Amino acid sequence: MKIDPHVHCRDGKQSYKETIAHVFAVADAQGVQKIFDMPNTDPPITTEEHIKERLKLVPEERLGDYFVWIGITADENQIKEAVKCWSNYKNVIGLKMFAGKSVGDLTVLEKNDQKKVYKTLADLGYKGAIAVHCEKESLLKGELWDPKNPMTHSKSRPKRAEIKSVKDQIELAKKTGFSGTLHICHVSCSESVELVDLARKEISVTCGATPHHVMWDQKMQKRPDGLLYKMNPPLRDKKSVEKLREYLKQGKIDWIETDHAPHQVGEKLFPPYMSGYPSLCLYKDFVENFLPGIGVSTELIEKMTYGNIARVFEDKLK
Ligand SMILES: [Zn+2]
Repeated sequence: MKIDPHVHCRDGKQSYKETIAHVFAVADAQGVQKIFDMPNTDPPITTEEHIKERLKLVPEERLGDYFVWIGITADENQIKEAVKCWSNYKNVIGLKMFAGKSVGDLTVLEKNDQKKVYKTLADLGYKGAIAVHCEKESLLKGELWDPKNPMTHSKSRPKRAEIKSVKDQIELAKKTGFSGTLHICHVSCSESVELVDLARKEISVTCGATPHHVMWDQKMQKRPDGLLYKMNPPLRDKKSVEKLREYLKQGKIDWIETDHAPHQVGEKLFPPYMSGYPSLCLYKDFVENFLPGIGVSTELIEKMTYGNIARVFEDKLK
């Protein structure tokens, strides 16, 4: 059994990019049984009504394999509704907060608003997971991005924006008495892993890594098709990637999440130069060849593709 806890199935208005049914076809080919879908769709998934509509798009025979993260906003009533959905719908796996703007408008950018989210969840006694996209908006340098030189994308979203946001989330979770699991999505550098590892003593916290951040470095963006390798957070320099691999080998990364995020090729090579890569397509080769190739044990691969995920989401998956 393998689970991919981070895919963007799109569907609905964005069916031209990807659909839930097609993601299941890709997952089957890649040896993945269950998927956790992300809510930054159009419209975003933030209410019970959205959840009902979403579940109608799932092929009936796969309803036991489909789970969705419900999006979080800074609105207290919305947070309460999201937690209710998590309690009432088995398919709602947890909450997702975009602490930095990536793709779509579903964001909670201000630290004060993020604090409100953790505080509200603490007051509600929420024991589930909140998955967070960490890139601190005020440290992003959008002006450095030049599509003629795609590698500038990595400079425009520097490591420190991710690291500072990870720090913020851990600090806020601790301060507010948040009693669920804080999950840091797609860590792109070793510093984020170190922060998570240190915080494990005090709070329930996990982190995930994508195949693309572990396999590739930022030079991929120098290829003639470099714009295809634009994703958030971006690919990093070779040294950072090597360190990330080292931590992965040491079991400091809880799970592999693909952040499968397809767009039409034209939307990536031409304006608006969308961010995202269809990384579920890399999964089988990544876990069967790449990871053993860099010396990751079979036992650890089992944990990162299933065991650690099953432990955190035990109640939903049984
Ligand atoms: Zn994502």
